[in-house]
Amino acid sequence: MTTTITRQIVRIDEELCNGCGACVSPCAEGAIEIVDGTARVIREELCDGAGFCLGVCPTGALTAVPAEEEAERLRRTRAGAYLDHLRDTASPAGHVNAAHPSDTVVAPPEEGDGGGASR
Ligand code: SF4
Repeated sequence: MTTTITRQIVRIDEELCNGCGACVSPCAEGAIEIVDGTARVIREELCDGAGFCLGVCPTGALTAVPAEEEAERLRRTRAGAYLDHLRDTASPAGHVNAAHPSDTVVAPPEEGDGGGASR
């Protein structure tokens, strides 16, 4: 008989978290901190999913989920946030981004810019 053990980790619903901090001290591993007014699992490798924090949360923001499921969710969330950041910091068309020259956006030619399209 084979037994599979799934590692659990705490997930924090940032929409429900009010930043009260009640979950920080029950976490013996020091995996949770308040960052910018919201609880965060700052050291995922330290979270053992024991769940001592779960019962103290007044808003139900904490749940224990399989670690692989949470890791995949965070990968998607962080990748999306990074793409949003790139979109928000894109240079205006035709300007060179000195920090990231390969991100330079080239404006399409306007009518009358040449290419023989107008007279
Ligand atoms: S106990 Fe709940 S509401 Fe309070 S900081 Fe932790 S996750 Fe947020």
